[in-house]
Amino acid sequence: MSKHFIGGKWVGASNGETTDMIDPSTGKAYGKIAAGTREDVDLAVKAARSAFETGAWGKLTAAERGRILIAISQRILEKKEELAAIEARDTGKPMTVARNDINAVARYFEYYGGATDKVYGHTIPYLNDHFVAVVREPKGVTGHILPWNYPAQMFGRTLAPSLAVGNATVLKPAEAASASILRLAELATEAGLPDGAINIVTGFGSKVGVALTTHPGVNFVSFTGSPEVGQQIQKLAADNYINCTLELGGKSPQLVFEDADFEAATRTICAAIIQNSGQTCSAGSRVLVQRRIFDDFIATLSERFKAVRVGSPEMDLDCGPIITAGQKKTVLGFVDRATTSGLPLLAEGQIAEGVDPGGFFVRPALFGPVPTDHELAQQEVFGPVLAAIPFDDEDDAVRIANGTEFGLVAAVWTRDGGRQMHLAKRLRSGQVFVNCYGAGAGIELPFGGTGKSGHGREKGLVAMDDYSNLKTVVIKH
Ligand code: NAD
Repeated sequence: MSKHFIGGKWVGASNGETTDMIDPSTGKAYGKIAAGTREDVDLAVKAARSAFETGAWGKLTAAERGRILIAISQRILEKKEELAAIEARDTGKPMTVARNDINAVARYFEYYGGATDKVYGHTIPYLNDHFVAVVREPKGVTGHILPWNYPAQMFGRTLAPSLAVGNATVLKPAEAASASILRLAELATEAGLPDGAINIVTGFGSKVGVALTTHPGVNFVSFTGSPEVGQQIQKLAADNYINCTLELGGKSPQLVFEDADFEAATRTICAAIIQNSGQTCSAGSRVLVQRRIFDDFIATLSERFKAVRVGSPEMDLDCGPIITAGQKKTVLGFVDRATTSGLPLLAEGQIAEGVDPGGFFVRPALFGPVPTDHELAQQEVFGPVLAAIPFDDEDDAVRIANGTEFGLVAAVWTRDGGRQMHLAKRLRSGQVFVNCYGAGAGIELPFGGTGKSGHGREKGLVAMDDYSNLKTVVIKH
């Protein structure tokens, strides 16, 4: 495992360095990955460049590319159990969740595999003796820098649309979760992907991530991760004269009005913060409840919270541990500061008996009422901590919902059709769900944020736009 995947082969780090892979449900090291260098990135970018310009990959027709992406999808499904076990061990998520993630990565390759030969350009009426065509072309070599929360899914989300357009790719997984990505790259090659179309360089952001973003042979960077690093990536990309998409954090609100379906709303709101132990950019981390129903609604939600069970992957409970010891400390820091400052802790979930005491487990926590300027109402915890906030009316709800620096996902729970429409328009958010919360699902649905949540859209056909350039061809006849 302690090697990069470059040009279809396993290659060790140029300086021979490695870093440990830690199992979050035991806290113990169980393997090593290569800690890459600038030289390794250079090798990967060169492999990608030659795949794109002179290799077998660049010579394929769009339809041939599509067939390969669909073959990758099928190969992933054939290896679903193996991949789910790798993902569960590396990230701590329950096996059922890991299997769903593998279904999702297969679906990304299926979806974009079907889109390769539907990338249309257009013509423009211009001077009578001129013919003008605007064609869509791949950018060349695209760089991809990923976080640790959904490594397998994001392999599909970020690579499949880029490959569909015809680019060759270099991907840097998060140092805390690289295992499934390395195996997926190998499986893609087994499914017929020509060498060099996907290259994986593992290691730390300060070395591999910076080297990838600043490499003169990289034409675009897709970054998913924290707002702080995203900001640095954008600056580095600017110095390299390339653009980037940033999929960053969130503080996503769920607005519950007095006419909401209590059962569906409490079930979905609880699941939306528990999912992946709250380590989801689109976690519904604020629940805004109309004041008249606040107590009743929170009482029902609290019951659901108390029933949540946290355990190791093979226990297959509601959620697993936090990814690293450092991240666990960060999450518990938020919880401790909230309780010591006197914020009411309304409910907590349970850690199952029999978990390894070295694992990074935390109890999900529901706090409220949380003042709107409190850090739990403003900052991304990236853990299973939900802030409940009361509101008076529609204007108040919108003011609170839009009152953070983020704008990734929002939900509205009401049966009033007019209110559904007003709020869908007024909420500052990349996605708005009404009477549901499909964040993370819906590969067909454009996804991305505003403000500190980033910019650019992934998923859906629009994701292919960012991975391509328009060329205007003018012919005088
Ligand atoms: P992170 O920003 O610390 O790391 C993300 C990636 O960037 C990792 O691969 C890391 O090695 C790399 N990196 C770190 N420093 C770098 C640098 N200076 N230059 C280049 N690369 C660098 O984020 P994380 O802790 O892995 O993930 C959690 C964050 O990601 C949360 O804020 C979460 O909301 C966000 N996230 C967003 C989405 C989304 O789609 N919007 C999805 C998942 C996670």
